[in-house]
This record gives sequence, C-alpha cells and structure tokens, in this order.
Amino acid sequence: MKLVFATHNQNKVREVQPLFPENIELLSLTDIGCHEEIPETSDTIKGNAILKANFVTEHYGYDCFADDTGLLVDVLDGAPGVLSARYAGKEKGSEANMNKLLNALLDKTNRKAHFKTVIALNIHKEQFLFEGKAEGEIIIEKKGSQGFGYDPIFKPDGFNETFAELSLEIKNSISHRGKAIQKLINYLNTHQ
Ligand code: IMP
Repeated sequence: MKLVFATHNQNKVREVQPLFPENIELLSLTDIGCHEEIPETSDTIKGNAILKANFVTEHYGYDCFADDTGLLVDVLDGAPGVLSARYAGKEKGSEANMNKLLNALLDKTNRKAHFKTVIALNIHKEQFLFEGKAEGEIIIEKKGSQGFGYDPIFKPDGFNETFAELSLEIKNSISHRGKAIQKLINYLNTHQ
C-alpha cells in the first residue's frame, strides 16, 4: 500500500521509514510532484496537522498523513509551541531558533519542556488523529550532532544525552514523533 507522508523534510521521512511495515510504501511530497509549501496557518499544532493532510488529499487525491510538532517550554507558557519552526523569524533556521531559546532561558532554573506531535491521517475518506509527547528539559549549551531542529538542546527524561547524541533507533523509541507514528502504525496494522 502506498501512503503519502505530507512533508518536504527528508529528515522526517528517513526517521520514520524504518518504523513502517514492509507492505507500506511511504511517498514524500516530492514523490507525488508536490513542490509547493503547504500553508500552516492554524494557531494550534493539531490544526496544522489537519490542514496539511487535507491539502494533500484535496489537491492530489492521495490517502496521506501529516504531522505537526511543537516544543513547549513550561516557564515560557508553552512557547515556542506552534511557532517552533519560525521562533527566531521566518527563514532563520534551527541554529537561530536554539540560540533564541537558550537566551530566553538564561536566568531560568525551571527548564522543563516537552515535544508534542499530532498526526492527522486521511484514509478511505475518514480522518484519524494520533498524538505523541516526549518530556524532558532544555540544557544550557548545545550537545551532539545527530538529528535536527532543537535536538542538541533537548535532553529527554531518563537520559543523560540530548536527542542529538542518541542513536536514531533510541530517539524513535522515546520521541514524540516516534510515539505518534507507532499509534498510526498500530491503527494501520489493525484496520488495513
Ligand atoms: P514540524 O512541525 O515537524 O515541522 O516542526 C516544527 C519545529 O519543531 C521545527 O523547527 C523543527 O525543527 C522542530 N522539531 C520537530 N521535530 C523535532 C525533533 O524531533 N527534534 C528537534 N526539533 C524538532
């Protein structure tokens, strides 16, 4: 079965592809000829996941799933949250986002944070939502070179390493996206 993962981010496709059963072939947006930026205009993580999944189904006619993720920092009232990708400004990128967050937390002792992922699955004209969370804290300085986004400054609970220091296999087993994807896969395994 072919299923579109509504993302241009090859990191994400690489991360989740090994988790899917062999009979499910993931297609990226590039694979289906979609090169445009899908508007993410909702003010919630869940709303943006739904927008992206619906965009692909409506414009390209495929069954698909879309994810949206935010990093929510307790002492910043959940910021950067839905704005995580453009926290330091549009087009600025991960380094600038991390620097801005480290600066915002300079004098803070409570550094608790969590990643939250919502996946919207459109299949056979129905929609299903799956959620995953990873609890942890923002460390003082970047550590590690694997992964992407805020990985070098996020240390998951129960580990001494950041996401950027952990193997992809371990990250997938404890991460927000890994957990949401696992729920999606469990659904597909029992309903397809
Ligand atoms: P998106 O909704 O998955 O595109 O993610 C929104 C923002 O969160 C982007 O800045 C990503 O870099 C960041 N992000 C998403 N997933 C992760 C992750 O697993 N680790 C670190 N940062 C992430």
